[in-house]
Amino acid sequence: MPKNLFKIAQTKKIKYFLISFVDLFGVLRSKLVPTQAISEMQKNGAGFAGFATWLDMTPADTDMFAIPDPDSLIQLPWNKEVGWLASDLWMDGKPVKASPRVMLKNQIKKLGSKNLKMKSGVECEYFLISQDGTSIADPRDIQSKPCYDQSALMRRYDLIKEICDSMITMGWGPYQNDHEDANGQFEMNWNYDDCLITADRHVFFKYMVKTLAEKHGLRATFMPKPFQNLTGNGCHAHVSLWDDKTNKFLDSNDRYGLSKLAYNFLGGLIKLAKPLSAFFNPTINSYRRINAPPTKSGASWSPSSISYTGNNRTHMIRIPDAGRFELRLMDGSVNPYLLQAGVIAAGLYGMSNKSDPGEPLNCNMYTDYEKYPDLEKLPDEVEDAIYNLDDSKEIRECFGDEVINSYIKLKKNEINDFNKTESFNKEDPVTEWEKNNTLDC
Ligand SMILES: [Mg+2]
Repeated sequence: MPKNLFKIAQTKKIKYFLISFVDLFGVLRSKLVPTQAISEMQKNGAGFAGFATWLDMTPADTDMFAIPDPDSLIQLPWNKEVGWLASDLWMDGKPVKASPRVMLKNQIKKLGSKNLKMKSGVECEYFLISQDGTSIADPRDIQSKPCYDQSALMRRYDLIKEICDSMITMGWGPYQNDHEDANGQFEMNWNYDDCLITADRHVFFKYMVKTLAEKHGLRATFMPKPFQNLTGNGCHAHVSLWDDKTNKFLDSNDRYGLSKLAYNFLGGLIKLAKPLSAFFNPTINSYRRINAPPTKSGASWSPSSISYTGNNRTHMIRIPDAGRFELRLMDGSVNPYLLQAGVIAAGLYGMSNKSDPGEPLNCNMYTDYEKYPDLEKLPDEVEDAIYNLDDSKEIRECFGDEVINSYIKLKKNEINDFNKTESFNKEDPVTEWEKNNTLDC
């Protein structure tokens, strides 16, 4: 029996529910539903016009319904009258295939048929900026190497504490907060979990950080590269595969503590990194962070080439510890569901094709890249990534043509819109279009 949301509302004194979903561009959409109406909504879903969001639909399409997942319920720690729910989209009695949470659940199902599940953690970096988005919020945060700066961190104590306290209340197991490598940039870490839980929390985290920043008179942005000369917002993911109780990536006899299965999974990501960049680095602005020149701090901390290594942050994949690896490709504009779905899809491909990632590279890739001219480079702009996705029979097999065609169609429309007034050049300042369309991603 699914949890009864009406009864939960009575116990927890919830007056309203946010029935929410994330569209293909990662925008969080909701209806605010009074508790009196939640039983009906739990059964049949809240109705939306799909065309009004970033989904591949037309104004003539029938209603789309967001059916809430009661297991995803979060009582807003800063407003306990409201309960937040992640939902799955349905139309004409069927799940909407080209919708992100459904796409992730389909990949989870495929992994489940092998009695495996993916656990993951995400590292969401963000900036605190001025309301108009033109500068960072703290005028005293000007060091050239500001990473871990205690004073700049503690000037934001009230906000950081409120976000971290909220994560404690919600039971996420937060364990550290810091100032990151760019002026005005922060990161907060909580425990890894099953990938669907992590994806829902990732969605909620972004909403929470933006909302609480506003409450404190600030603005938070996850935009991949809001400032040309500063390190961008990454969204690294730590990944492991489990059966019921055991980490199947762990092999203590291996030099890095990874199993053959883990190397095959990783090999799938190496093989499909180019087309998957269209999911992992989905915005025009994303490509100011990838293949970027060094920043004010001395490093971009983001990859340019498709490579893996041990505990070394200059490569696309790092193995920091036994039993897991870190994929450093994604940025703050990544759709939380497509992040997890893309990783599983590549991993499944790697496992079934016994993909060999080759030998790890132990160089400083930021300085030594010229010694590896044969190494594949990541796409240089979003058009390249979309082209690679369009051309990838592997990814088309993973997700189905309908889903990939929908995604490509919407991204191409977006690129056309950009090209009407702007042109993309990494050397030029961030454009107004990028700010208008990406600051609140
Ligand atoms: Mg970081």
